[in-house]
Amino acid sequence: MREQGQICCGCRNRLGPPYPGRERYCDRCASQRQTHHRIYLYFFVRTGWHCQFLEADLKTSLPRRLTFQSPDKILEMAKAGGAAKQLHDIAAIEHAIAVGRGGIWLNLNNEQYGKLKR
Ligand SMILES: [Zn+2]
Repeated sequence: MREQGQICCGCRNRLGPPYPGRERYCDRCASQRQTHHRIYLYFFVRTGWHCQFLEADLKTSLPRRLTFQSPDKILEMAKAGGAAKQLHDIAAIEHAIAVGRGGIWLNLNNEQYGKLKR
């Protein structure tokens, strides 16, 4: 059944049809095995810098919300998420900070992503 794709090759839960005729993971195991997560960081200033995070579908918000006193933290987060590698990326983020709102796509590893899920 496993080779037919009828059960998950991680947790062995039954999977629904159509059966691909090869091994596969259920959605839960697949997301646990995923090592990179594309996340959209949306921020705006209002007595502090508020940061909210959305899944790549831009509909599902992550539970963790952050508020910073300084926008430097947003730039730090962008760097940690690989979004500020080039000078023009940094310029775009600095512009968003200057106008008081903006969004950045981040590439997070499992550990960084896990923190936002709590
Ligand atoms: Zn599974």
